[in-house]
Amino acid sequence: MASLLLVEDDPGIRGAVIRALTERGHVVRSAPDAMSGLQEAVSSEPDLVILDLGLPDLDGVELLRMLRAVSKVPVIIATARDDDAQIVRALDAGADDYVLKPYSAAQLDARIRAVLRRSLPEDAPKVLEIGGLLIDPRSRDVSVDGRPLELSPREFDLLAYLAARPGQVVTKRELLAEVWRLPYGGADKTVDVHLSWLRRKLGENASEPRFLVTVRGVGVKLIDPGASSHA
Ligand code: CA
Repeated sequence: MASLLLVEDDPGIRGAVIRALTERGHVVRSAPDAMSGLQEAVSSEPDLVILDLGLPDLDGVELLRMLRAVSKVPVIIATARDDDAQIVRALDAGADDYVLKPYSAAQLDARIRAVLRRSLPEDAPKVLEIGGLLIDPRSRDVSVDGRPLELSPREFDLLAYLAARPGQVVTKRELLAEVWRLPYGGADKTVDVHLSWLRRKLGENASEPRFLVTVRGVGVKLIDPGASSHA
């Protein structure tokens, strides 16, 4: 899961891309022109920007230069097939990758993941290993007792966030803020729902947890099932 900003003036493309990326677990904001895109990029600090080069108010490459002056956010540009010179200009101006229109959601999502992997800081955590659970933040592979798990992007982010803090109780408010980048709403069941999906894939349930222990009224913690401190 990533928080994305889509700068695209075509409402049809905008709607379709937002839908497709949201279905893949991303949080997607959008802007219909360059200036509101710049504003949104600065105020919402997305993990990555998808930038259409043909915008009504300003050339996309100009926007990219302005953005680069204030932000290192990874940028994928979207452009028409015959725009070779534009692609070169955009890459020179600091774009991280590009997609050719029309692009599929699957391809865009793969490029997003690749760009985000590359942009991880050098000191990003290596593989996490907690009592049979292996989590690789770079490849986003997860296995339990050697059995690979198919996790959605959000399930992965949730698990990785908890696994980076083994034994530590994390509140739902913190999970919503850090994993979903959402404000806390009292009735929000999002975290519970994703935790239960995650538990199912880990082969456990809330009443007999192996890794994910609910601390009633507080939150959840990921524990090492082999560690004796857990009773
Ligand atoms: Ca356009």
